[in-house]
Amino acid sequence: MLSSTDVFIVGGGPAGLAAAIALRKKGFRVTVADGAKPPIDKACGEGLMPDTLAALAELGVAVDATDGFALRGVRFISEDSSIDASFPGGTGIGLRRPVLHHKMIDRAAAVGVSLLWETPVMGLTEDGVALSGGAVIPARWIVGADGARSRVRQWSGLEAYTHLDSRFAYRKHYQVTPWSDCSEVYWGQRVQAYLTPVAPHEICVAVVAQNAELRIDAALRAFPQLAERLANAPVSSTERGAVTSMHRLEHVTRGNVALIGDASGTVDAISGEGLCLSFRQAAALADALEMNDLRAYQRAHRRLRRRPAHMARLMLRMDGRPWLRRRVMRTFASDPGIFERVLAVHVGDTSAGHIATTGARFSWKFLAA
Ligand SMILES: Cc1cc2nc3c(=O)[nH]c(=O)nc-3n(C[C@H](O)[C@H](O)[C@H](O)COP(=O)(O)OP(=O)(O)OC[C@H]3O[C@@H](n4cnc5c(N)ncnc54)[C@H](O)[C@@H]3O)c2cc1C
Repeated sequence: MLSSTDVFIVGGGPAGLAAAIALRKKGFRVTVADGAKPPIDKACGEGLMPDTLAALAELGVAVDATDGFALRGVRFISEDSSIDASFPGGTGIGLRRPVLHHKMIDRAAAVGVSLLWETPVMGLTEDGVALSGGAVIPARWIVGADGARSRVRQWSGLEAYTHLDSRFAYRKHYQVTPWSDCSEVYWGQRVQAYLTPVAPHEICVAVVAQNAELRIDAALRAFPQLAERLANAPVSSTERGAVTSMHRLEHVTRGNVALIGDASGTVDAISGEGLCLSFRQAAALADALEMNDLRAYQRAHRRLRRRPAHMARLMLRMDGRPWLRRRVMRTFASDPGIFERVLAVHVGDTSAGHIATTGARFSWKFLAA
């Protein structure tokens, strides 16, 4: 058993592994413990946007279209219209979650991260981290990457938060040839269905709603066109549920503890940016620990969350407001270039000029729609 480490990471999901890789690349001795056995599956839309792929590439995790399915862009489908936009300068990839996990584990092992699977962390002590079985591993830094219901957050007194919204999600896979090269978002009344091709003959369907009881088969009744396409398709995974929320923490660091990924606050699944955010946080955390300054991480964390949280809030306004949804769809239909520009902002074109001209063009067309 390991005697000590520079950084102990609680949770070996995407955020924990990204932090481990980034920190190991800076020369830290890094240990990751996860209570589960890999590869770990999870309810997720499984869409990796171009900015997510870029962040993965920076970590040295290579993903290409043959691992999943290349995505040209995003399509919105509402009661009476459909509009799509291509990603600027690159494609996204639909990728099964266990495939992503497997790739990240391989990279972490290759750079020399110590990985402890089926090893739940039971608490934090003065010296380090207490594992099930009683062993305590001394660590200079502790990173909580233990997901939305983080216990590290609780143990380290970082629970103060603002809770903005919660919804309920289910996801299932179907064996069917994708009919689209886009990630599709079907808009209904207080419910959306997200469809992501993840292989040449498989798609992932995730349904997100305010109603916790709304399972996929029932939710599909709101989307007859989609239901018909899936009617005879064999189901290739068990239905999994999850809560998705907008949850902002006051602080993500305290003493020698830092939180990352969903443990450090969440953005609604509607953004499709949760993974990218975790990977960017991982790079910022590694930079901060290299400078021995967790305050730099706190500042970077706040900055990184701003854009995905803002975009998620804007999209959530369309949920439950049919008049707004119709008007936004009419705006996009009247000038498809606007949807493309908004998508570009969403996946990371944050230049002030681009945002200003996109905002002005959208507002003008919106007023006329
Ligand atoms: C319905 C839905 C759809 C989504 N769709 C997308 C999408 O299309 N694209 C996208 O980019 N993002 C998406 N997201 C967001 C994305 O899934 C999350 O942001 C991402 O999973 C966060 O990863 P994480 O590592 O922080 O947490 P998790 O993936 O939850 O990992 C936490 C890990 O910690 C471990 N753990 C917990 N407690 C302990 C303990 N005490 N000891 C040891 N280990 C512990 C768990 O076993 C787990 O492996 C979606 C989210 C939802 C809910």
